[in-house]
Amino acid sequence: EVQRAHEQQRPRTARVNTLKMSVADAVAWLSSPPPEHSRQLPQEVSIDELLPDVLHFPSGTDLHDHPLVQSACLILQSKSSCMPAHALRPEPGWGVLDACAAPGNKTTHVAALLRGQGQVLAFDRDPKRLARLKANAKAAAAFNVEAQQADFLSLPLATDSKFRHIRGALVDPSCSGSGTVRSRMDHLLPSFARQGKPDNLQQASQVDGNGRKGDTSASQDDRSGAEADRIERLASFQEAAVKHALLLPSLQRLVYSTCSVHERENEAVVAAVLPAAHRLGFHLVDPFPQWHRRGIAGSVEGAEKLVRVDPYEDQTDGFFIAVFKRVKV
Ligand code: SAM
Repeated sequence: EVQRAHEQQRPRTARVNTLKMSVADAVAWLSSPPPEHSRQLPQEVSIDELLPDVLHFPSGTDLHDHPLVQSACLILQSKSSCMPAHALRPEPGWGVLDACAAPGNKTTHVAALLRGQGQVLAFDRDPKRLARLKANAKAAAAFNVEAQQADFLSLPLATDSKFRHIRGALVDPSCSGSGTVRSRMDHLLPSFARQGKPDNLQQASQVDGNGRKGDTSASQDDRSGAEADRIERLASFQEAAVKHALLLPSLQRLVYSTCSVHERENEAVVAAVLPAAHRLGFHLVDPFPQWHRRGIAGSVEGAEKLVRVDPYEDQTDGFFIAVFKRVKV
């Protein structure tokens, strides 16, 4: 009962796997199930206004056992986690590298945006998670994905000819996951969602539509030393991963994303890599000019080009996206 009550708080979203089914066919199927699936109820469904392959369903809709989900025509994915692949704007035929790829939600999304033309080189250092990625790619008919177990930082990106055709890179590294706390807690703590965000996230995610922030320093003081250390370690890896990916010789566009709300993992990472990015000819660009929530003003040069998604205000998981585009070689 409690779980059902909380599942009803946010609208559900799913991504149409366009490698298997068009968005129009998916909407038609869902709204009016074919006769051979007469036991399926018609669904109320609409297409997201920003992301053309993302569908919205009324809150409380449970699609886990739906035939379109079982056949990987629909992939259950939050709207915000579908934003990075679109922000990359991969063109069919491109080589794309996914640095920290498992379980592969964004990998298969990129493969779909490539329309099966081109290649996605997907890396993850965790063998079990990589096995899940391979299974997910196969189920999704993402046959242009080549997955390999590797520590991304040890890959010879600048010298190995295997990387010479890579034009796009997705860096979605391990992060604190603080932007997904609400979805995870909704299932655990009955009173949580009713009471609003927990104290230690109140200020950390308090960024308004113009990117002005509340006082994040107070929330950082509250955070335990161990948590602060963990975030610092994560941020060091995040910075190293972005800097490493920028070394790809033919790279045109790089997307850095996290599902964290912490400035240290987001704008501060961008600030740390920006000098190296500029030296290599990259600049920040805005992937979604129509989006309303921006990077924290004053945190980094170009904060207005950064995208933030607030887990309490935007009806989906908290996310952060930065796009680096090479403007000169
Ligand atoms: N992009 C994935 C998706 O959309 O399904 C989620 C990626 S998850 C946030 C981060 C991943 O980074 C984890 O699977 C983790 O094993 C991997 N990872 C962490 N450190 C790594 C490293 N040094 N090299 C490669 N992968 C790494």
